[in-house]
Amino acid sequence: MFCGLAVAAAADSPRYIFYMIGDGMGPGQVMAAETYNRRTLRNDSLLTMMRMPVSALCTTWSASSPVTDSAAAGTALASGYKTRNNMLGQDFDSVAVRSIADDLKDLGYGVALVTNVAPDDATPAAFYAHVPHRGMFHEIGLAAARSKVDFLAGSNLRGTRTDGKYNGLYEEFASNGIEVLRSMRQVRESQSPRILLLDSDTLVGHTGHAIDCRGNENTLPEVTSLAIDHMLKNTPDRFFMMVEGGNIDWAGHANDGSTVVKEVLCFDEAIARAYQFYLAHPDETLIVVTADHETGGMSVGQASTGYNCYTDYVECQKVSKDAFSNMCHSMIRNNTPCTWEEMKQYLTDNLGFWGKIPVSTHCEEVLKEKFNKTFVTREGTVEHSLYNDFPEFSQEVFDIVNRRAGFGFTTGNHSGNPVPVFAVGAGAELFGSMNDNTDLPKLIMKAVRGY
Ligand SMILES: [Zn+2]
Repeated sequence: MFCGLAVAAAADSPRYIFYMIGDGMGPGQVMAAETYNRRTLRNDSLLTMMRMPVSALCTTWSASSPVTDSAAAGTALASGYKTRNNMLGQDFDSVAVRSIADDLKDLGYGVALVTNVAPDDATPAAFYAHVPHRGMFHEIGLAAARSKVDFLAGSNLRGTRTDGKYNGLYEEFASNGIEVLRSMRQVRESQSPRILLLDSDTLVGHTGHAIDCRGNENTLPEVTSLAIDHMLKNTPDRFFMMVEGGNIDWAGHANDGSTVVKEVLCFDEAIARAYQFYLAHPDETLIVVTADHETGGMSVGQASTGYNCYTDYVECQKVSKDAFSNMCHSMIRNNTPCTWEEMKQYLTDNLGFWGKIPVSTHCEEVLKEKFNKTFVTREGTVEHSLYNDFPEFSQEVFDIVNRRAGFGFTTGNHSGNPVPVFAVGAGAELFGSMNDNTDLPKLIMKAVRGY
């Protein structure tokens, strides 16, 4: 049984709807990126999302906590129902709820879901799955295969194997008429109207942090443009597209300020691709930008920087805390020889230490002590986060960057802070007041229905 939002199309409803969701993107994350954009990159214009004519805030609590997780928040944003943390596409009483992707599909809209994390992760899955726990990846994958989604893109599916053996999930996509492809070139050459695009070389749950510059072509802006082209080719009359900036959340959980900045800018570039589409179809397009929750309790400015922050230091960081920590884990596991002098050189080259970022004698002593605890005596602590474990040395390195740049964090989890809402286009004026996350899909459907 499904609860749903009753719909009937209005003649002047927006034909093209973009729902841009920055995972973990609170006002602090947006402002950190904007401060870097203005002060370091010296761009006179605001981020694309901040230039939209309608802006507001949105509350995010779930049915079970003032601090939501991504599953409950995704369910609220997709269907308009509060639910408990970890539940996807079901209401508080475990009743399946329809998402606006289903409602819009019934009204003739093509549906595209794009993310730079896994397409079976909470935010995209909230638009097609109905499961009691977000970790049920095989069931979520089956729901994706049996859904009405026309274009689904992300890093990798996590429910393709059972006891180490392939369990037929890929075949389920094929038997439902969905072609599974691994590159943007394959998508461009495909005649299939329904596509699952997975990243070619990652199994880590995301397509790579923007700051790590892995040369991966499947960046969020590029896949957003690809999705627009695909939808124009196959459902030119109407389409609904959800685009998730999923790595903002990863960087927030890691308390990695510079990586947050680069991920918000990457997401804003994806928004710019939608905005360019809006400029070509201004009377027929609605763009709504928001977040599912805030991650990290992030602030611009912290105790060490007083009434200032120093975003120029973001430029010095060439590696994410996730990638650096993975390198540390690998070195520990493989007993890779590394002297303090060699590590100092790495930090100089990849984080600007002892160069643009000053490192005091005391600070170096602390760093060296944690280096020895992590790599030599192996007595260092490990901080566990949602997506990664951070060795004590890695924690200290990135704490230094945050303290110097002026990025504050209060938690390695989510916070209950409100998130921003930006909107432009047909029906955008509906979004200009304080909303709850359950209001947003209802307002999108109001823009479509006309009442
Ligand atoms: Zn989230």
